[in-house]
This record gives sequence, C-alpha cells and structure tokens, in this order.
Amino acid sequence: MKTFFMRLIVLVAVSFSSPVRGVSAEMKAAPAPLVDVIKVVPDMIVSMQYATADNFTGKALYGCNRCFLTESTARKLALAQIELKEQKLGLKVWDCYRPLSVQKIFWALVPDPRYVADPAKGSRHNRGTAVDVTLVDSRGNELPMPTRFDDFSTKAARDNMDLPVQILKNRDALENAMKKAGYIPLPTEWWHFDDSDWQSFELRDGDICRD
Ligand SMILES: [Zn+2]
Repeated sequence: MKTFFMRLIVLVAVSFSSPVRGVSAEMKAAPAPLVDVIKVVPDMIVSMQYATADNFTGKALYGCNRCFLTESTARKLALAQIELKEQKLGLKVWDCYRPLSVQKIFWALVPDPRYVADPAKGSRHNRGTAVDVTLVDSRGNELPMPTRFDDFSTKAARDNMDLPVQILKNRDALENAMKKAGYIPLPTEWWHFDDSDWQSFELRDGDICRD
C-alpha cells in the first residue's frame, strides 16, 4: 500500500512538473525594461533627431521626443552629466533606444557598416545601450563640434585631427566624460557612445513612445 501511494505521488509530481518544464524551456526571459532617461538625468536636453523630419531619412520615425535606455545605461549618462556640470557643460542627446524596424529603414538607405549597423546583427541602439550626444554650455547652446549629426564622412571620425583647437577640446571633453562614466566611443562617429556592458542586453523592437 505504501509503495502504491509513493508511486501515486511520483506520478502526480511528474504530471504537474512536465508541462511547467516544457513552458519554461520555450519561454525567453523578458528583456529588462527601458527607462525614460529624463527621470534619471532630469537636466539633460533631449532632442531626438528621428522624432522630426530633420534627419538623413527626411522623415519623422519616432512618435515622441523621449530618450529610452536600459536603467544601467541611463545611470552612466547621469555620471557623465555630473562630470560635465563641474565644467559648466552638459549633454544634449540626439538618439537613444531605436527599434529594430527603424534600423532596417536606415540600412536600406545607408548600407555602410561604418555608419549604420546591419539589422541582421543589430545596432547597440536597438538594445537601449547606445547614445548619440553632443555638448551644450550652461545656457543649453550647442558647442562647436567636428560635424553635424549623422555626417557620414571621415570628418566625423575620432582620428580626424584636422580641426580647430577649440573643436578638438570640445570633442575631448565629451569623450573623456563619457569614457569615465563607462561608455566606449565609436571610432567613426564623434557623437556615438556604447555602454561598455551592452552585451548583457538583447536586441529589441517595438514602440518607444509607450509609458
Ligand atoms: Zn549612434
């Protein structure tokens, strides 16, 4: 009798645990939620270039002027802002999380991996772990930089030293603050920085303008 009950218990346990195991094997862990960076860096200027038609595609591709990043990436941006404020400077952000569907539009227009990541591999922007930023003074005016945003030329490269001294100083001030905060500068674009921990986060798609 005791053996019968033991078998019954094992049978019941297996019949309950098997479907659960099956589901958990199929389910992927939900990606970490993105945060609206203005809640983490309230004094940063947000000017998302793809929320207006004033970008290389000529179209507004985002439905709102909000910057979303993973929470840890946003906290690093707060560190860079603190560092720059000590120099009476600040950050103005041009792009943050970018849905994979928008990456496909970019790639169709500029299939050059120096400037646009192939959507088959994805951009670090698609993970919410990259930012495009420039510097502003204490009044919020942009400082002179090597090129405009999304200048897909070698002028935008970090090894371009053929620039006025003040512009080199501005580029260095941005790069130094971002590196100190935990970002890695992209060699081909002075405005692009990747969170050094980007590999911990997955590629993602979907509306950036949700609450
Ligand atoms: Zn970028």
